[in-house]
Amino acid sequence: MRRILVTGAGGFIGGHLVKRLVAEGHRVTVTDIKPVAKWWQRSFSTTRFDGRVRCLPAPGIPKYVDSLDLTKGPPHELVAGADDIYHLAADMGGMGFIERNRLRCLLNNTQINTNMVRAILETSPPDPCSRRRVFWSSSACIYPVNDQADTSVTGLPEDLAWHGQPEEGYGEEKLFSESLHRYLREDVGVATRIVRFHNVYGTHTEWRGGREKAPAAICRKIALAKLTGKHTIVIWGDGTRTRSFMDIGDCVEGILRIMTQGPWSPINLGSEEQVSIRQLVKMVADIAGIDVEIECDMTQPQGVAGRNSDNTMIRKLLGWEPTTPLRDGLERLYPWVEQQVKESLE
Ligand code: NAD
Repeated sequence: MRRILVTGAGGFIGGHLVKRLVAEGHRVTVTDIKPVAKWWQRSFSTTRFDGRVRCLPAPGIPKYVDSLDLTKGPPHELVAGADDIYHLAADMGGMGFIERNRLRCLLNNTQINTNMVRAILETSPPDPCSRRRVFWSSSACIYPVNDQADTSVTGLPEDLAWHGQPEEGYGEEKLFSESLHRYLREDVGVATRIVRFHNVYGTHTEWRGGREKAPAAICRKIALAKLTGKHTIVIWGDGTRTRSFMDIGDCVEGILRIMTQGPWSPINLGSEEQVSIRQLVKMVADIAGIDVEIECDMTQPQGVAGRNSDNTMIRKLLGWEPTTPLRDGLERLYPWVEQQVKESLE
């Protein structure tokens, strides 16, 4: 017998789903933000969930938790007791509602979903053979609107959704949060700025431990080579990937300019000086005053093949752009990293 949790049970789809589950005799716990008197369907007796995981609903007689706001998170006991979770709760409505309430939809639903996923994560057994199953309702609203501009539109295949293809995880969240800040301006009138930084480097930053970026990592490796006399360094990939790196001074200047001058819309803040990782190594080695042999570790993450900032917009709107040559910035970064490495070896 599976134990089932349905969120959004007071709503349209949830109401119908619960009715069916009850008719089939399942042990169901149901919840919604609305008081139970306002649920669309109540095809069950009114046994309140008392918070005890072992207190199972009887077959066909669900327990309910009403007036539970999932933006504030579900009680873990509610989630812990479920094998199957149908997560249908969402702050949503028809096109009129979602068009006029973009910020609200984004904020509330992100909170609902992150809270639910966190609770599921924290209450799921580590066992990969766990019996737990989770159903979450996405929407056809995720498809690009540009691909639906014609009334004779053909069907929307599933792979159309990810044309933008941001960096998985980190990039996806950034894209989503850009919308959050855009609607904060457009719906509420808060003066937001959305700035797309491209690889910032400088002193007083992570230089070891796994969170460091390429310039500091290369400086550390070359400093170690110099200080230990072992002049072979390992780089991730074959060194042909290209990036642009922005000096921290330019970054701060850009932040302040954009803050005072705008624009509202997302804008790149980065350097257009594109170098390969091998060129970066060569520059740092020159600054350190040593020659190094490069060994390539092809098993490590390398990211996209090439990435550079397009500064057309910032030049046009601000009449300014980051211009510190990479070599100049590295002249400041390298001695700082070498000092950190020296101290760590003492
Ligand atoms: P609904 O609005 O009828 O039901 C959603 C329920 O979630 C409501 O009862 C609401 O009270 C509840 N809810 C809202 N905010 C909450 C919160 N903070 N905490 C707890 N509960 C909260 O919507 P529906 O039509 O039943 O849709 C269910 C799911 O399906 C949603 O995720 C929705 O985005 C998705 N969906 C629906 C459609 C559709 O055509 N109905 C289309 C695409 C996607």
